[in-house]
Order: sequence, then C-alpha cells, then structure tokens
Amino acid sequence: MDYLDLEAERLKLDPQEAKTCFNCDVCGDEIYEGQEYYDCETGYLCESCFDKEQDTYKQSCERIAGEDDED
Ligand SMILES: [Zn+2]
Repeated sequence: MDYLDLEAERLKLDPQEAKTCFNCDVCGDEIYEGQEYYDCETGYLCESCFDKEQDTYKQSCERIAGEDDED
C-alpha cells in the first residue's frame, strides 16, 4: 500500500476531510460525499433534521379515533 492508498483510506474514515456536496437546507450542516441525506419537500436534509421533520410530520398526521376535531 503506497502513500496515496493510505491517503484515500484516511479520507474514507474521516468525513471531515471528505468533499462537501451541499449543505442541509434546515441546519446548514455540511453533507459530505458518501454520506446519507434525505431529499424531501423541505429540501435536502441531514439525518438529524430528517428525524425531526419526521416527528413533526407524524404529529401533524396524528389523530385519535372518536376525537375527530375537523369541522
Ligand atoms: Zn440538518
């Protein structure tokens, strides 16, 4: 394994060194090449923002049978 291979390996292990693809549309966090992200209505979200988004969505959809508050 020569120097370049070691360098490539190091880049793979250290996401801070990886190339930034874009920023999360909610928190502005950098999303790096190879990192998971979520493409939703709000935009491109990092994992933690997507989780929060999911929670908000779940809450907005939550209904209790027999307690329908629609008029
Ligand atoms: Zn985010």
